[in-house]
Amino acid sequence: LGGSISHTLQQMSNATIIDEKVLSDCLNEISRALLQADVQYKMVHDMQSNIKRIVNFDDLAAGHNKLGIIQQVDFIQQAIFNELCKMLDPGKPSFTPKKGKTSVIMFVGLQGSGKTTTCTQYAYYHQRKGWKPALVCVDTFRAFCQLNQNATKAKIPFYGRYTESDPVKIAAEGVERFKKENCDLIIVDTCGRHKQEAALFEEMRQVSEAMKPDLVIFVMDGSIGQAAFDQAQAFKQSVAVGAVIVTKMDGHAKGGGALSAVAATKSPVIFIGTGEHMDEFEVFDVKPFVSRLLGMGDWFGFTPRHMYEQFQNILEMGRIDQVLSMLPGFSAESMPKGHEKESQAKIKRYITMMDSMTDAELDSTSTKLMNEARTELRPNDHEKESQAKIKRYITMMDSMTDAELDSTSTKLMNEARI
Ligand code: GDP
Ligand code: MG
Repeated sequence: LGGSISHTLQQMSNATIIDEKVLSDCLNEISRALLQADVQYKMVHDMQSNIKRIVNFDDLAAGHNKLGIIQQVDFIQQAIFNELCKMLDPGKPSFTPKKGKTSVIMFVGLQGSGKTTTCTQYAYYHQRKGWKPALVCVDTFRAFCQLNQNATKAKIPFYGRYTESDPVKIAAEGVERFKKENCDLIIVDTCGRHKQEAALFEEMRQVSEAMKPDLVIFVMDGSIGQAAFDQAQAFKQSVAVGAVIVTKMDGHAKGGGALSAVAATKSPVIFIGTGEHMDEFEVFDVKPFVSRLLGMGDWFGFTPRHMYEQFQNILEMGRIDQVLSMLPGFSAESMPKGHEKESQAKIKRYITMMDSMTDAELDSTSTKLMNEARTELRPNDHEKESQAKIKRYITMMDSMTDAELDSTSTKLMNEARI
């Protein structure tokens, strides 16, 4: 899958001019991949139209002499990438609980979606950061045992009852008790085991009314497929869903349903579940998620040469924030104000480093170098250490033989590094 997109983009890079047909082929390929990744048909269609609107062929043609073909391809790749990132951004953050202040968080979702697992993971994640979480179970027998076991293992206070008693009453009791105990995160696992869907939603609504949660989290199985939109919408219509967690991202699922869930609930994805264990749980990060959706590595086909050309281009225009936003896991916002000069200097040093790279290295899609660059570009990091590393890099290349420098094998380079 990823291979076929890479192939298409490679073909694009080999084109001598980007025209409507090249773009169309590329978009079709990417759309196929997105549909296979369970992104809703309508959203794929919207993405296509938006990209076609953004990419202005006259501008591209006019700039053809100035912009290399690689830069044109980068421009289109970035446009697609950004469009998908935008689709995962509902425009407003979810409610964020504050340590030391009591928040009630209610988890909803279909049976089997991973609610009970996620409740414990969410509690454990916060507990490790010094919070005082507590778990309340308003589900029936099975979940009671499961959650009770998990809670005991993680030493998290737990409230629930064995009987199939009134879930609204249990929820209210649990929340009240943990408020008294000054827990700052009261996590409520709800039921998903009704034969009648209507009854499930009614019970959920009643529990929500009784507890008045600060946040309702919709838990969605990442492999749910095209059903994601309707499912998320059904929950949103019954309770005030304010955030999404996508589970089972450790399997084959690419999680394209997340785009639907965001659209249907107008809420952001906040975490992803990557396994059944307590710590297989990660803060949601949009760029790697979109890369995975597209079936590509972190770099979306970027090679050091792409970066090199972009760096030079952007340095000329003085847009440091743009350079930074190209790096996965790094956003313009993470850049403290007043550090622009420093960053500019860092990027210049990178260009120097890249000046001494071989063609093979510049065209390699290996992420090793990029990851080093990213680490070292991070502000407030050990500046001196980074400088020393770059100097070592350049020295190492200075001492390479012509054969090594001209070799297209990366094996030599790796050996040289060791
Ligand atoms: P609930 O019915 O919504 O409470 O779902 P559960 O938490 O009971 O999870 C249903 C099943 O999915 C269980 O067998 C879990 O161990 C499993 N599960 C939950 N989250 C994940 C995950 O992120 N990855 C994998 N592989 N399995 C998961
Ligand atoms: Mg459960």
